[in-house]
Amino acid sequence: MTFAITQNCCTDAACVAVCPVNCIHPAPGERDFGATEMLYIDPAACIDCGACADACPVDAVRPAEELTPAQQPYAAINAAYFERSGQPEPREAVDHGPNFHAWGTPDFERVLPADFAPLRVAIVGTGPAGMYAAEDLLLHTRSQVTLVDRLPAPGGLIRYGVAPDHLATKRIGETFARFHTHPRVRMHLGLDVGSHVTAAELAAHHDAVIYAVGAATDRRLGIPGEDLPGSIAATRFVAWYNAHPEVAPDAVALSADRVVVVGNGNVALDVARILACDPTALTGTAVAGHALDELRRSKVREVVLLGRRGPEHAACTGTELLALKNLPGVDLVVDDHDPRVGTAIDAAGAAQKAALFRDVPREAVDWSTPPDPSGQRRRIVFRFHSEPLEMRGDENLRAVRATGGAGEQEIPAGLALRAVGYRGVPQSGLPFDEGSGTVPHERGRVTGLPGTYVVGWIKRGPSGGIGANRRCAAETVGTLLADAVAGRLPAPTGGARAFHRLARRRR
Ligand code: NAP
Repeated sequence: MTFAITQNCCTDAACVAVCPVNCIHPAPGERDFGATEMLYIDPAACIDCGACADACPVDAVRPAEELTPAQQPYAAINAAYFERSGQPEPREAVDHGPNFHAWGTPDFERVLPADFAPLRVAIVGTGPAGMYAAEDLLLHTRSQVTLVDRLPAPGGLIRYGVAPDHLATKRIGETFARFHTHPRVRMHLGLDVGSHVTAAELAAHHDAVIYAVGAATDRRLGIPGEDLPGSIAATRFVAWYNAHPEVAPDAVALSADRVVVVGNGNVALDVARILACDPTALTGTAVAGHALDELRRSKVREVVLLGRRGPEHAACTGTELLALKNLPGVDLVVDDHDPRVGTAIDAAGAAQKAALFRDVPREAVDWSTPPDPSGQRRRIVFRFHSEPLEMRGDENLRAVRATGGAGEQEIPAGLALRAVGYRGVPQSGLPFDEGSGTVPHERGRVTGLPGTYVVGWIKRGPSGGIGANRRCAAETVGTLLADAVAGRLPAPTGGARAFHRLARRRR
């Protein structure tokens, strides 16, 4: 028996560090690391010790013999990676020491001299980016960490972004939560930097500040009718079903039979899955009670995913697409409105994402017919090469006008979710690049602001899954420590206690 990595791999490579036979790839230091959707176990080299399964923070590593029917393709997917890429170049055996998450030999820059006074570092944001940075500082240095979050509960996108039925992925929150009560951590929840305390006050009480504030708003489409009632950002819908405190329980009504989702990234797939699945399957997940009630009353029978490019460019990962194909009680259909769609699917190589659509029925969808009048089946329609031009309606959305192979078409829909990506917002006291929605930086150091750093989506833009933040945090923390050693951090004027008193007073 061997092990296989499955759908919810977070790619943070915690498994690689504990594998005694180096059979998990691509590994840190290898060319493909960070470029693949997931990591893979070589079945020819796996010795079945299960160390990787114990270390996996999202429960993605499973004995191949115990894969569920939906997970079974992953045995072949793991093996296929090694057939395609050949034997990965060998990595030298590394002594990882006591730090379970270390990948390799620490770089010179990241090692603080033994007599170096512990740093006091504030981290703004308790999502994965902030927590990987905290973990790095706490496990590799004697730093004291002040965790700050504007919301009353920690977790960021783990709590309010990861889909509620992805319970294994949400489990990584437990790994991070161990650090909330670390003896060198002080956490301030419900504290907004910018309104309760200023960036300057936070900086004045710490040696360094790391901003891990993510991308707090949605990208805009810039088309007429975008703000009609019934047209909402998918990010808001996601926040609604995850019980975000700033989204009202009645913010979403599922009274339409058809929903159009603009975009086909993983957020689009998440919202399509939640809308189309049998709500009884969500019982026992992390879904908000108010959302589950509304989903039980839902009239939605069809979800249309609009992709402006072809199936070969679908933004979702193959793993999430595969999971959607296995959703009980839900049919998938590809809208055959444009000959380029079928051509791309038929021409796709076996390892390419578009090949996953090969066994999905194609149909020239007639939008004048309401979705399944009997109301028994639900379906998800993939419509490629179709760009939204206008949201139409008077008091509420009535239809989405979109391009198509046979010209423009109106797709009747009472709800549209714009899943075209997140966007960073300016952070008070920090420079901001309007074009990219990020804070300008050099290897994590904010341009022109000594002692201030960024990590995660506010640093590199809103893409990449949870594990990408680990690599991103390693770079930022490395820069911070190098600056500390080189004497480039401004001296704080206030102490830890003074900051905690200030925070308590202002909140
Ligand atoms: P995304 O992956 O960037 O997808 C955005 C989608 O919107 C793409 O289909 C894009 O099309 C489309 N789009 C952008 N601008 C558009 C426009 N003006 N008109 C029409 N379509 C437009 O963003 P996301 O889905 O928000 O995901 C963000 C990141 O979080 C991704 O890295 C994702 O993998 C990750 N995530 C992962 C999971 C998971 O692992 N389960 C779940 C949620 C999110 P083009 O491709 O043509 O630009």
